[in-house]
Amino acid sequence: MKKELIFLGPPACGKGTQTSKLSEYLKFPHVDTGSLLREAVKNKTPEGIKAESFMSKGQLVPVEVVAAIIKRRLAEPDCENGYVLDGFPRSVEQAQMLEDINKSIDKDDAEFRAVYFDIDTELLVERIINRKSCPKCGEIYNMKFKAPKDGKNCDNCGTELTQRKDDTEEIARARFDTYNKETAPLTDYYEKKGILRKINANGTIDEVWERLLKAVND
Ligand code: AMP
Repeated sequence: MKKELIFLGPPACGKGTQTSKLSEYLKFPHVDTGSLLREAVKNKTPEGIKAESFMSKGQLVPVEVVAAIIKRRLAEPDCENGYVLDGFPRSVEQAQMLEDINKSIDKDDAEFRAVYFDIDTELLVERIINRKSCPKCGEIYNMKFKAPKDGKNCDNCGTELTQRKDDTEEIARARFDTYNKETAPLTDYYEKKGILRKINANGTIDEVWERLLKAVND
């Protein structure tokens, strides 16, 4: 049965790292709306042009822009057996939209699972400010806690690391406000549907990974 996996949690809770690992492990595509939007902004597509001003303020991009991007992506053949969805849905409105998109795409029944990354939030702004990633292979680093060996370039492919434009303290705080107002209510939404699993997202990458695998497989 097709497996549709959704991940919820505040900015920088470790979702990106864990869901990339999970997508490799399950051989399902990692569908990450933040990266899809950043790509659209970089390529100056009509959707990217609309999205840019919202992203630079840490606000949600209008639902119709995200809907167009996600609908196209989920209809691609590599999503046929399942996908790992990172950063979407981000509001109850988007969750309902996802259900409609799936009805229009899925031929058979699909199994839905939402996993919530439960984490102490006080250190997350600092995690964001110190975050850098590889523009080529996507590996995520933290210049304080998980720095690249030479302090500058990706350990995997040698490419110089870059920082996201919205990983500043001011925009990070706005992203937390947006998360608390618009995305946090989704945990109740999925809890009521009986498909929510909560994992403790404090700890090392390996500790959280073990908990994630249990939550996805139980
Ligand atoms: P992320 O990479 O998940 O932290 O997302 C970066 C930014 O992209 C967010 O602060 C939003 O401005 C935008 N974004 C990503 N996903 C969504 C979404 N599902 N709905 C609206 N905006 C989004």
